[in-house]
Amino acid sequence: MLARIVLVCLLVGCAVAQGVKNENLRWKINGARRMAYSFDPRYPQQARQTVMRGIERWNQVLGDCLPLKPRKANDRDYINVYNGGGCSSMIGKVGGGQALSLAVNGCVYRGVVIHEFLHAAGLIHTQKRPDRDNYITMHWGNIVDSWKSQFTKESSRNIGNYSAYDIYSIMHYSNTHPSWSINNRPGFTAKQKKADYRKIGYGDDFAKSDVQAIRRMYRCPERKFTTDVNNNNRNNNNNRDGNKDRKPIACSNE
Ligand SMILES: [Zn+2]
Repeated sequence: MLARIVLVCLLVGCAVAQGVKNENLRWKINGARRMAYSFDPRYPQQARQTVMRGIERWNQVLGDCLPLKPRKANDRDYINVYNGGGCSSMIGKVGGGQALSLAVNGCVYRGVVIHEFLHAAGLIHTQKRPDRDNYITMHWGNIVDSWKSQFTKESSRNIGNYSAYDIYSIMHYSNTHPSWSINNRPGFTAKQKKADYRKIGYGDDFAKSDVQAIRRMYRCPERKFTTDVNNNNRNNNNNRDGNKDRKPIACSNE
């Protein structure tokens, strides 16, 4: 059933550009903007603690707009976190219990948690935006075939453009990755001259543009937002600047 939903999304494009236009894919529970989550009973306790750090950060930043709360007994729509084969999520609210995979091996980082929940809220990968050719140059020959779909542009027909293209968005891929770049060659290069590749795709926190996109999609008032850069200093596993101990996000949803 789940596979079928993913396939349908691929074919008809319910995953569109930066954020879903279709209001039915946006979260509302009993009339209120809210997302509900649960853990698969087998999801390990230690990994849950890291996932909870991501959820706490989410609620710090977006709690007034789109809070992420434990599923209540009568919540029909919810996100179920499980230990799948990688990091992935559906795009937006698809209805009922929807799986969000945070594999214990490779996905349990605060930045990945935020990234996947942003998909569930309705955002797609930045490099799939229809306007991306203005900002990056693709190098298709350096990308493994089975990953090329993560770089195909979405149609602007269904697109909501909720914030400007941001190469440092937590929803942007890094330019190389062991999973998909052939011989570690870059899948794209930035058109801006001074792009810092150590920071593209290594986000540990929301970028301002990510917060703005959600607030506009869900019609929440804008609020001042400051990226939590100190988190990087506290936790070497999420070192955005040093980039040594932290794998870039390779999330293969849609
Ligand atoms: Zn992703």
